[in-house]
Amino acid sequence: MALLVIKTEWTVLYIAGRHVPVRDVALVIENKRIAAITTSPPADAQTIELKGGISLPGFINLHNHTINAPLFRGIVDDLPRSAIGESKVYSMLMPIGGLAVSYLDPDELESLVALGLLEIIKSGTTTLLDQFRPVQACILELAKRWGLRLYGAPYLFSPTAAVSDANVARAAQGSFEGNSGIATFNQLFAQYDQGAQGGTRVILGPHAADSCAPELLKSVNQIALERELLVTIHLAQSQGEVDRVKAERGMGTVDYMDSVGLLREGVIFAHGVHLTDAELQRVAQSGASLAHCPTVFLRGGKAPHYAHFSRQGLKVGIGTDAERMDIFAQMRASGFASKQATGASQGATAAELLNAATVHGANALRRPDLGRLEVGAAADLIIIDANKAHLQPINDPIRTLVWYTSGSDIDTVMIDGQVIVRNGKALGLDESLIIRQGAAAARKVWDEARRRGHFPTEAEPLRERHGF
Ligand SMILES: [Zn+2]
Repeated sequence: MALLVIKTEWTVLYIAGRHVPVRDVALVIENKRIAAITTSPPADAQTIELKGGISLPGFINLHNHTINAPLFRGIVDDLPRSAIGESKVYSMLMPIGGLAVSYLDPDELESLVALGLLEIIKSGTTTLLDQFRPVQACILELAKRWGLRLYGAPYLFSPTAAVSDANVARAAQGSFEGNSGIATFNQLFAQYDQGAQGGTRVILGPHAADSCAPELLKSVNQIALERELLVTIHLAQSQGEVDRVKAERGMGTVDYMDSVGLLREGVIFAHGVHLTDAELQRVAQSGASLAHCPTVFLRGGKAPHYAHFSRQGLKVGIGTDAERMDIFAQMRASGFASKQATGASQGATAAELLNAATVHGANALRRPDLGRLEVGAAADLIIIDANKAHLQPINDPIRTLVWYTSGSDIDTVMIDGQVIVRNGKALGLDESLIIRQGAAAARKVWDEARRRGHFPTEAEPLRERHGF
């Protein structure tokens, strides 16, 4: 197997359990792994060298719905509570998301997914956990073709009849519910899952605590245990969800997960924003993981932040939940929110946030060979071009990465030893075509949503509201 050498000014190595920036070392990649870390790499090997560059582990995006990013860009921002009700999940996100998968033809739907995935790979995510409606399985196909490491979790919902709230029940429509959902999961699993170390995984993704009844969640748990698969589910995402679970199941959301076997290692809860401190501590002690998605809540005036979770003993990973899929921006937002909330500059440090976006996410996926650069780890890395006015001079590379860098500073992305972005360009992809076609597909959904009255007046741009 041919060797590939990565040489940059700084390399963020994983040494004795923490990320440590080291100057002037090279990574030797062989057979998809980091085979050596050395100051004298083989001169005759193929070499990627970036003077003034920083190599770091690729990010683990622990919670996302890729098509939602382009679909809701500039629509859900700045909306008043009166336009969205108690939670935009059931009043807006699910209905318009459902419209996208039912109204677009397969090519248009794929274009929309491709636009989202292009943003993902160009902003440093090398491993993505994505929850999607099963009819949008093209995400599995695209990720495989493009070389992105994907944990795909097709949505599972309980039959509409088992869910008492009308808005929640509507969210399940157009998806495969109950047993038909599990049958579809089995089909996708048979077709795409590549096993424990594979690049494409198909895992279990029941939608949320208030849209999934105990029978479904117990079946999910059983399948997960039998096949050693991960489970991911939205938990305590809104106060409405917590209230519905209390009313229908007579208990809190964490107790509900416990009652169906899902309060354990191998389960990734998304959000946990409305959990009490005692509930967060129980999640931490159970070994379950939490995907912390900062900006999707910050934009609505809520402020979940890294320090809030870490103080309760949780080792949270970072997810984007389709609100700007740039992990640098997510780390920074959570960091600033932590500092503001704790009133202390060290409320969340760059080192802690980088750990969350790499090591904690990888551990949640049972992949201790991801999210770190050390001998034997998978060759999943990104290289930042730090020869920029906003990045120089460098004192502490980790602070530079977390507080000052953006996805657009990425020069190179490598996943599983394969270079998929080089000189800031996605290799083998026509980026302008993907952007054009994806944007057209999103606009087509917007137009139809307007026609059906799903598009809040408040989301219309100013020029239309004023008639010129
Ligand atoms: Zn979500």
